[in-house]
Amino acid sequence: MFEKILIANRGEIALRIQRACREMGIKTVVVHSEADTEAKYVKLADESVCIGPAASSASYLNIPAIISAAEVTDAEAIHPGYGFLSENADFAERVEKSGFVFIGPRPETIRLMGDKVSAKDAMKAAGVPCVPGSDGALPEDPKEIVRIARAIGYPVIIKAAGGGGGRGMRVVHTEAALLNAVTMTRAEAQAAFGNPVVYMEKFLENPRHIEFQVLADSYKNAVWLGERDCSMQRRHQKIIEEAPAPEIARRLITRIGDRCAEACRKIGYRGAGTFEFLFEDGEFYFIEMNTRLQVEHPVTEFITGIDLVQQQIRVAAGEKLALRQREIELKGHAIECRINAEDPFKFTPSPGRIASYHPPGGPGIRVDSHVYSGYNVPLHYDSMIGKLIAYGDTRDQAIRRMRIALSEMVVEGIKTNIPLHQELMHDHRFIKGGTSIHYLEQKLAAKGEATKGK
Ligand code: ADP
Repeated sequence: MFEKILIANRGEIALRIQRACREMGIKTVVVHSEADTEAKYVKLADESVCIGPAASSASYLNIPAIISAAEVTDAEAIHPGYGFLSENADFAERVEKSGFVFIGPRPETIRLMGDKVSAKDAMKAAGVPCVPGSDGALPEDPKEIVRIARAIGYPVIIKAAGGGGGRGMRVVHTEAALLNAVTMTRAEAQAAFGNPVVYMEKFLENPRHIEFQVLADSYKNAVWLGERDCSMQRRHQKIIEEAPAPEIARRLITRIGDRCAEACRKIGYRGAGTFEFLFEDGEFYFIEMNTRLQVEHPVTEFITGIDLVQQQIRVAAGEKLALRQREIELKGHAIECRINAEDPFKFTPSPGRIASYHPPGGPGIRVDSHVYSGYNVPLHYDSMIGKLIAYGDTRDQAIRRMRIALSEMVVEGIKTNIPLHQELMHDHRFIKGGTSIHYLEQKLAAKGEATKGK
């Protein structure tokens, strides 16, 4: 096992990884920007290295600075967390070439899955169901593009092979708008991702977002650890996640989960990963794979009793997966609310000093957050300041515990989206379960209309 791991991230996930390391008796090095010098997890780490100014481009995305920090502290492995460099194949390669272990998949795998066209091809070959669409990249020939769209049927969506973060996509409803949309998406993709390749998919009008957690070692052993429903989103940003997904037949879930684990074996996947699907009318459609730990991993940890971060570290150290699929039992129900420093209904960011902070507690409650009374939420990064996770024997119990936890949680001095979560925990459609990815935006729009009329 490693003696020392460098954590190349910040905020709640830096603290989460640090806790896993400490439990395993591994020393930690935290790298941080000038804006995060005072963070408590930085002080709790065995060592810390300031790698640059506040701007992410100069610190958390600064590859040479991170590698140098690993060199001067004698760290053996680097955990990238999520976001920042976690899905950057060049970074993973640099880490390994510099003699460190990258806690994640091999660089080739990250590259394969980072290109959506090659990822979809690999998944199709592995028997994972995909959204009907063009067979790979769209050709140049306009007649051919029109023919493909007719075969798929409108509406269609044009997507950039190199896209990410909900960018590089365009929905097309009619043939008249098709060719212009393809040209524009290509130009945007070239500008934003340096790759003009686009592909076409059937646009699903009212899907749910369901994803499967996988874990694999370097010896082609792979398991899937249940699914998560992450349909409660605004502008493609997840707000609430839960596991298991309500109202989907377990037999169908098991079939897809088994396919995902099989696909991991086929592509030689290593580490933790997530297969994202859209789910509509009883069918699953693969859209992309995330080759890293997810923000929402705690809901899976609750229902499986497995520490995903420790498992990531074990397989990165070359250990064989000790878990067997038949031994993995999904028990109870977990819900996660992302707590963001923002106006709960206008969504404008609200950075600044937290005057007072009281996290909730009690049976089945977990709070993953790095903040404390007096902490200053920097304006340079993502607005998420923590995650509140509630577990229950049933979904109903998890919801009731979440309501209590939200009512106990105090964050003063800045605005947070706690009031929005409180409203959603009493929303009859959420309580019923199985809302689509458009539900939250439709609800917010309806609410906006209602208040305008007053
Ligand atoms: P990104 O990497 O940018 O997150 P994804 O491929 O995961 O891109 O798609 C992001 C979101 O766009 C999905 O969660 C979904 O809301 C929407 N989307 C993508 N493909 C389709 C599709 N074929 N039909 C309907 N919505 C889609």
